[in-house]
Amino acid sequence: MPRTILVTGGARGIGRGIAHAFLANGDRVMIADLPDGGEWNYDLASAEERKQTLAEAKVLGEVAATDLDVTDKASCEAAVQETLSRFGGLDVLVNNAGVLQSGPVGDFSERDWERVFAVNAKGVFLMTQAALPALKASSDAAIVNTASIAGKQGFRNLVAYCGSKFAVVGITQALATELAPDGIRVNALCPGMVGTAMWLEHLMPANTTDAAEQKQQFEDAMASMIPLGRSQTVEDMGQAALYLANAVNVTGVSLSVAGGYEMN
Ligand code: NAD
Repeated sequence: MPRTILVTGGARGIGRGIAHAFLANGDRVMIADLPDGGEWNYDLASAEERKQTLAEAKVLGEVAATDLDVTDKASCEAAVQETLSRFGGLDVLVNNAGVLQSGPVGDFSERDWERVFAVNAKGVFLMTQAALPALKASSDAAIVNTASIAGKQGFRNLVAYCGSKFAVVGITQALATELAPDGIRVNALCPGMVGTAMWLEHLMPANTTDAAEQKQQFEDAMASMIPLGRSQTVEDMGQAALYLANAVNVTGVSLSVAGGYEMN
């Protein structure tokens, strides 16, 4: 039976990889993201990126897109409602939307701290609350939260990001325990280093405007750091999210997909 999956932050990057994996598996997907970017230290998903992702995804299966701001309760409820109207149910919620800001703690602005926690941590709470009645009605329900290896290990200059991702791991374990009696499995995916906007436009901005060269610089840096010798791809993340949503006797785990960079 095809399931219905809602992927937050699905307009590009890891969310796009996750949407593709579920579509290739024969599931139906609702891509939910900000309508047209947003003010941040790097550009968030644009309307054009979402349009392109949707067009590619349509080749793979049944997919639609809707507006979502995970920091806004009414918007979360509307995105779930839109999914129910479109597909008649919701089986898997993938809480993938996230933002990153870096900088030394002494200069880190309160505004950025609040935004990082609002999207990365509170967004998981609000979306879970909005989706809960539909998930309870499903006979094969799961939640997959995109945390990070930064949710298991602290990194310098990432005080808010690490804090928010540790929160996601904690939220995952709390929900796994609480929702087990309802048959809802809750797990987290902890990506290692994936060459998306967070890296290429913020953490490791290249000294070139050539996109291929930029990716190569990122890849070279990662290859020497990661035991398995390469960065992670959005396809790696799609595969892992699909596994976590399918595994009928797995709940409360935070699965690192990091080529051996993080092993707990
Ligand atoms: P990305 O910036 O390409 O994707 C994040 C998506 O979230 C974007 O489409 C953005 O528009 C969306 N988003 C941001 N704020 C939102 C909001 N308020 N409401 C709805 N959508 C919102 O980056 P990505 O690397 O694909 O990140 C996806 C997830 O993976 C994030 O949670 C991120 O923290 C996590 N992650 C990424 C890496 C990595 O190496 N790229 C590593 C570990 C974890």
